[in-house]
Amino acid sequence: MAISGIQIYKLLPKTNCKDCGFPTCMAFALKLAAKQVELSACPHVSEEAQAQLAASSEPPVRLITLESDGSKLEVGNEVVLFRHEKTFYNKPGFFFLVKDSEDPGAITEKVKEIDAFVVNYVGIDLAVDGFAVKSEGDGAAFAAAVEAVRAGSKRPLILIGDDPAVLADGLAKLEGEKPLIGTANPENWEAFADLAIANKASLVVTAGSLEELADLTPKIKDKGLADLVLDPQVTAFNDGLAKHTILRRMALAKNFRPFGFPIIAYPSQAATPEAEVALATQAVTKYAGFVVMENFAPETLYGLLVLRENIYTDPQKPIQVQPGVYEINQPTPDAPVMVTTNFSITYFSVANEIESSGQPGFLLVADAEGMSVLTAWAAGNFDAEQIAKDVKKFGVEEKINHKSIILPGHVAVLSGELEEELPGWEIKVGPRESVDLPAYLKQVA
Ligand code: SF4
Repeated sequence: MAISGIQIYKLLPKTNCKDCGFPTCMAFALKLAAKQVELSACPHVSEEAQAQLAASSEPPVRLITLESDGSKLEVGNEVVLFRHEKTFYNKPGFFFLVKDSEDPGAITEKVKEIDAFVVNYVGIDLAVDGFAVKSEGDGAAFAAAVEAVRAGSKRPLILIGDDPAVLADGLAKLEGEKPLIGTANPENWEAFADLAIANKASLVVTAGSLEELADLTPKIKDKGLADLVLDPQVTAFNDGLAKHTILRRMALAKNFRPFGFPIIAYPSQAATPEAEVALATQAVTKYAGFVVMENFAPETLYGLLVLRENIYTDPQKPIQVQPGVYEINQPTPDAPVMVTTNFSITYFSVANEIESSGQPGFLLVADAEGMSVLTAWAAGNFDAEQIAKDVKKFGVEEKINHKSIILPGHVAVLSGELEEELPGWEIKVGPRESVDLPAYLKQVA
């Protein structure tokens, strides 16, 4: 049962000390009731009150952690249905499926190729999160498949099968790791729960209907296993959208604890590779915590990873690059100096255009609190004073043998003020769009 803001307030110290970042205990209590803050933000709660508030401070979607040798994936802990309400915290993990009916050598080669896939998107390295190994045979074949995966990757694993004894043979190869195993159903859940507890694993739970699933998870929790993942047995696009939305709504809006776990989706079961990508897209946007794929295609995986990155980026915190002077195409002291802001998409757009032009140049990335050029200018974070300050701070003059600087065309209005801030400098105005930089640089070179 959700606890109200007033009930929480009664258990707080009521000193309004502001140490939690809120002006009053009541404001903090209301945020806590809305699951928008953690109880730990108030350092003054008594132990007694902490115990009483544990249920209300518990995230509505449990945090599940998978660990392997050197890799860790955290999924869950989400507190809002829609990203714009606050943010989504833990990105869903992409796992690629291998079956123990495949040749172990082929498994290792496939896993190595997928494991090595890393793309850089606006300064962030994007990659898959792990592998799912599916049992279709006996324990020896399964153990061999797990070993074959481990020969190609150290990333976390999901072990899938119907027989807990077969899975135990695979788990024996993962000493010290925390995998996800499954799949427990209303008939076999006790054996799976015992296996998960013995191996410190999380457990995938499924049932023929959401009602049966709601009956099953409390039984497993009562047995002592709380790290659960829900498989709602999605059969089609609309079915997946409906079930995932119901599970997440019940967990967040109704605080329905039996559904307070991440969801696993299997686009790998799609009829075609195209449908698999479409199902994965839906799973990322509507509420999967684990996404199991089968067909590896760099061009579609790149799109999925970028989509995931965009959805799970905090909308209130722009992705930034480090302010400073970036040298592009090995500039010599007579190369031009261009200015932009430290919003990562702005930086990469400008830097990529300069790089592709083949013209050497210095790019002064001003500290504009991670905003794009126009936004930063409108907010007063990208003005002549700031640019002049960064010219000095990052030692631009020491790198060049001229006194000329190129402003983005969108802030041509700053040129007069910048002349005053940088006496003796020639202020040039570049193009408004970064795509026009190569042609502009050819003219000024
Ligand atoms: S830190 Fe605790 S006691 Fe202080 S204002 Fe916040 S909730 Fe109240």
